[in-house]
Amino acid sequence: MGASIARAVAPLCDPLERPLVLLEKSGLAAGSTGRSGAILRCFYSDEALVRMAHDSLHEWSRFESTTGRSIGFERQGVLTIGGPGAAGTKELVERNAALLVRCGVEAQLLSAAEVRARFPAVAMAEGTWACWEPRGAGVDPVRACEAYAALAREEGAVTRLGVRALRLVRSEGRILRVETDQGVWEADEVIIAAGPWSRPLLATAGVDIDLQVVRPEQYAITQPRRSAPVDDDSVTSIADVGLERWNRRAPMAYAAAHPVLLDLERGAYARCEGHAQRTRVGALDHARDQVVADPDHLDPQVPREFELWAREQLVGRVPEYAALQDQPSFVGLYTLSPDGQPLLGRVAGVSNLTIAVGFSGHGFKLAPSVGRGLAQVLAGEAVTAYDAAFFDPARFTQGTKKAGQFGL
Ligand SMILES: Cc1cc2nc3c(=O)[nH]c(=O)nc-3n(C[C@H](O)[C@H](O)[C@H](O)COP(=O)(O)OP(=O)(O)OC[C@H]3O[C@@H](n4cnc5c(N)ncnc54)[C@H](O)[C@@H]3O)c2cc1C
Repeated sequence: MGASIARAVAPLCDPLERPLVLLEKSGLAAGSTGRSGAILRCFYSDEALVRMAHDSLHEWSRFESTTGRSIGFERQGVLTIGGPGAAGTKELVERNAALLVRCGVEAQLLSAAEVRARFPAVAMAEGTWACWEPRGAGVDPVRACEAYAALAREEGAVTRLGVRALRLVRSEGRILRVETDQGVWEADEVIIAAGPWSRPLLATAGVDIDLQVVRPEQYAITQPRRSAPVDDDSVTSIADVGLERWNRRAPMAYAAAHPVLLDLERGAYARCEGHAQRTRVGALDHARDQVVADPDHLDPQVPREFELWAREQLVGRVPEYAALQDQPSFVGLYTLSPDGQPLLGRVAGVSNLTIAVGFSGHGFKLAPSVGRGLAQVLAGEAVTAYDAAFFDPARFTQGTKKAGQFGL
């Protein structure tokens, strides 16, 4: 988020006198982003999210050709599955498929037989339904973050890696300066997008945002390989071959054995990650995730019980995985807000403080719109990049807290 915001906001700043400075306590993508599944889908229950995810997907889709930077973009399509195995999931799939179509997203409701015909690898019992998003995709989140930071630098931003913000010094209704472990920065405007570390940092300015950090476990398994219908199998990124040859290659490198799966019926998601040469599986809710007291000291252990559960869900849906080997599991960090949605915009009562926090495990795909929207906020323009009321940081204090479903 910080890198995308920096790229969008840097052009508003004087690069010599008052440049945008991105402070990062360790390395780019060191937090949630580096562990992200980076699945780009539009399947959501709220129109505000569908539209934002759709706009962002448009930017992700054109990113490599417009910037010449490789982000490992893979157009695999996203299949969201609901059925009798989990109450209400079939109805959710039907409802959201209709919502997507109403919002102009390319999406289709498919019966079990239609899914089997299109994706023979995917096991679908009668009575199971799926929402198919052919333009759904995934990227390499680390390369994407690095690309945004590089573009921000091209726009005049300064990126200071290894600098940790320790305290926001506030006087009355303003942040006067940011104290770091390497000196003090004075700023006209301060934007906090510190992921799991946001709550304690904001607390130094007396701003209490109800955020809880949890630790989702991720199972990984060898990817089934398919021969890719591209003219040259070795062409995997622009960085490898240059823009001209990249543009001459066949339009789609469909090497994944199946689309990204959001399996609501089984409570799991799976993505073939070309950049990591593995298929990742995670749980679709965070009910079992441990609460993390200190994100700097993350327990990396994944219990065997979780790995077996994840493997069972994947093999149940794509049986050919039964013959494939486990790969190393890992953990990540989600920063949960009370309604499962981010808080975007200015903080009431502090005139120069803006936040982009609480992405609740589904924010990566939204980064392009977040950057554009916060640039509009800082420029004093009307926000068109997202629904500002929906993501208003003041929505909880105003008593408009809504139950919200996790990431859907
Ligand atoms: C396992 C996993 C799978 C996910 N899958 C998806 C998915 O498929 N699709 C999707 O859309 N989203 C997904 N998400 C969610 C998405 O990755 C996050 O919402 C998003 O990456 C959050 O980005 P962020 O910039 O807010 O936080 P972070 O990536 O955590 O970035 C915060 C940065 O701030 C730095 N920082 C913190 N404190 C300070 C400080 N005091 N001073 C200086 N720097 C500081 C950190 O080092 C860090 O680099 C997933 C997340 C996880 C963990």
